[in-house]
Amino acid sequence: MFGWGNGSKVPVPNVWFREKGSNSMALKQLADDLYILPGLVNVYILKTDAGLVVLDTGFPGRASKILDAVRSLGKAPDDVRHIVLTHCHPDHIGSAAALKRETGAIVWAHPLDAPMMEAGTTMRDGMCPSPGWRNLILSKILAGKVATVEPVKVDRLIEDGDRPDFAPDMTAIHIPGHCNGQLAFHWARHGGVLFPADAFANRRGLKLPVATEDPQLALASIAKLGTFDFDKICVMHGSPVMQGGAAMFRQTQFDTFKKKGS
Ligand SMILES: [Zn+2]
Ligand SMILES: [Zn+2]
Repeated sequence: MFGWGNGSKVPVPNVWFREKGSNSMALKQLADDLYILPGLVNVYILKTDAGLVVLDTGFPGRASKILDAVRSLGKAPDDVRHIVLTHCHPDHIGSAAALKRETGAIVWAHPLDAPMMEAGTTMRDGMCPSPGWRNLILSKILAGKVATVEPVKVDRLIEDGDRPDFAPDMTAIHIPGHCNGQLAFHWARHGGVLFPADAFANRRGLKLPVATEDPQLALASIAKLGTFDFDKICVMHGSPVMQGGAAMFRQTQFDTFKKKGS
């Protein structure tokens, strides 16, 4: 095991961290009240009775794209009332401070990650790559690439089982492992929508994230997600699954981690 915090010296072309052209970032509608801004990291926009909710904010520098997407819905920046951060990694909270500044929205996060967000630190040391060469290489490349982001004040804490007041039919699910304060969300509409954060991605099938803080806890958290009913899976990395999500999830054999030293 090696740590992300050890700092890889592998030179990385910046293209890895540049989102594709503006066309690829066009907002797409997934349901009447659910939109995705696709990218290296997806951003979701939900229409609720309590205003627009933005779920994760992408890398630093994405706030203007998110606001363009908001305007494309015929809404103004201050119609964004809530920003929900699934966990403290830089690809999810990178634009949170800028977006909060532009919108005045309330920022929500889990208490275990909120202090890191407020300090602008984004990674805990000692992350373990998931099985496979791709993950080993990517985790070396990504190690320490974006170590800090602009700090963001977290206004509201949200914990396992909580139902946020902006969406009473949404349940927060604490899923540590990839990141200790990571939250998934289950939205009881459209046949059930699961937002699994980085518990898994969709890369031609559901796959473990590149690296995790605690592999065994990560697998336990994935199992916990399987106790919910859902039809759609709104992953943060890769394409959302728009039907048959639970069946796809249950057919997936997630890689297992070798025991340390083996
Ligand atoms: Zn992550
Ligand atoms: Zn991520």
